[in-house]
Amino acid sequence: MKNYDVVVIGGGPGGYVAAIRCGQLGLATALVDEWLGTDGKPALGGTCLNVGCIPSKALLDSSHHYHNLAHLLPAHGITIKGASLDVATMLARKNKVVQTMNRGVAALLKKNKVTAFSGHGRLQAGNHVAIAVHGAAEEVVAAKNVIIASGSVPIDIPVAPVDGRSIVDNTGALAFDEVPKRLGIIGAGVIGLELGSVWNRLGSEVVILEALEDFLPAADRQIARDALKAFTKQGLAIHLGARVTGAKAGKKGVSVKYEDQAGSKALEVDRLVVAVGRRAFTDGLVDADVGLAMDDAGRIQVDELCRTSIDGVYAVGDAVKGPMLAHKASEEGIAVAETIAGSKAHIDHRTVPWVIYTHPEIAWVGDTEQQLAEKGIASRSGSFPYRALGRAHGSGETNGFVKILADAKSDEILGVHIFGAQASELIAEAVTAMVFRASSEDLARTVHAHPTLSEAVHEAALAVDGRAIHM
Ligand code: FAD
Ligand code: AMP
Repeated sequence: MKNYDVVVIGGGPGGYVAAIRCGQLGLATALVDEWLGTDGKPALGGTCLNVGCIPSKALLDSSHHYHNLAHLLPAHGITIKGASLDVATMLARKNKVVQTMNRGVAALLKKNKVTAFSGHGRLQAGNHVAIAVHGAAEEVVAAKNVIIASGSVPIDIPVAPVDGRSIVDNTGALAFDEVPKRLGIIGAGVIGLELGSVWNRLGSEVVILEALEDFLPAADRQIARDALKAFTKQGLAIHLGARVTGAKAGKKGVSVKYEDQAGSKALEVDRLVVAVGRRAFTDGLVDADVGLAMDDAGRIQVDELCRTSIDGVYAVGDAVKGPMLAHKASEEGIAVAETIAGSKAHIDHRTVPWVIYTHPEIAWVGDTEQQLAEKGIASRSGSFPYRALGRAHGSGETNGFVKILADAKSDEILGVHIFGAQASELIAEAVTAMVFRASSEDLARTVHAHPTLSEAVHEAALAVDGRAIHM
């Protein structure tokens, strides 16, 4: 039987990053991943690379360019007559981006001497892993340590059964062969909003049905209000308090039934996307006699260092508690690799940034005002609008603001909330500041280049103390 220091099950951003770090640390490492690309070949990178972060952003960028042709460029004095859209080319580009990155992950594993198995991995008692290699017999290997990074899959709801054609999940919504005239989306979460934005910009009439009365309940309240207004103006019809009770695919499209305060309603769409969240994926992962403890939400139970109930078995990423974000999965993977190698690792879950890639983008790190109030922490707040930035006017991106929340006594930054262009990039400065436990005064005394959007972060820090310059 082959013997490894570490066997990683799952090749997404949790698993492959853990495996690379193990390789760097000199551990004999194997990684098992079962994902196959559309060409039937191994496609390392998991949900994130194959049907998540990367392809969704590729399409968001493509659709943003198309949308700008009609909506942004004329104001710059640029008009293009006869512009056309070729969905097949757009999808082929997206697929090429994914395949390039798949090859990149395979090369990184090789460079770090990680043995990659393409097939299904199953944890057995005694930290053995049974590997059903695609197209070959099962092989059992021994592992001193196992890292489970099996990720997540879309949640199915019986009222809207996915058929992969008219009713699709997030994977299907990245591969429509034409722009649906009317597109329905169930769920106004991150995935529903990002996918809705893609097809809306390409010309679909998009209706999003969301059961909750609240829009983006995890976000800053003012950002949620402003974002709802902006997205509605863009043409996303977002119905809050609308619970879908049925969906039936027919020859012409999909008939959707939902209930809101006014009673039962019906909606006809050409395609329907079910984007009601994702669940930890643990199907066929562990033999029953292993006794791996799960939590109430069906995730693998872990402590603060991602240790499971079994000695030498760790779990990271979407398969465990915490936000379903690629960078959170990777950070946990690195910490576990370092723990196995004997270092004292630490995962700072407090400073994991959130990003929603709509337009404008939404990004935040740390607590909201509501959360601080619930914790009984007194805070001071400073906000600064994009419309007061020269650079924002230059690029025509004046919608949005930065808000910084700092401890009322110590001035330590406790939360930063951004709604606006490039929020996904700007949030990195806020994360760094919080990791170094900076005060708002530290940020206020930090020189920011002019003219940039980052000046909004600087001015918001000054505003905490009531001394913003351009407001
Ligand atoms: P996954 O990426 O799900 O990888 C798990 C891998 O393990 C898969 O390849 C799976 O096939 C394999 N596997 C599972 N069980 C076994 C087994 N028993 N044997 C062998 N292989 C197995 N997050 C962000 O941070 N930013 C974004 O912009 C973003 N956009 C997203 C957009 C969409 C449309 C979706 C769906 C998700 C998005 N996410 C985003 C979330 C992100 O994709 C996940 O948080 C991330 O992929 C989790 O990483 P993971 O390694 O835990 O699992
Ligand atoms: P997220 O978990 O962020 O991807 O968001 C999924 C969203 O889908 C949540 O806000 C849920 O309230 C919403 N949702 C779940 N079931 C339904 C349903 N039957 N009808 C409408 N919205 C739903």
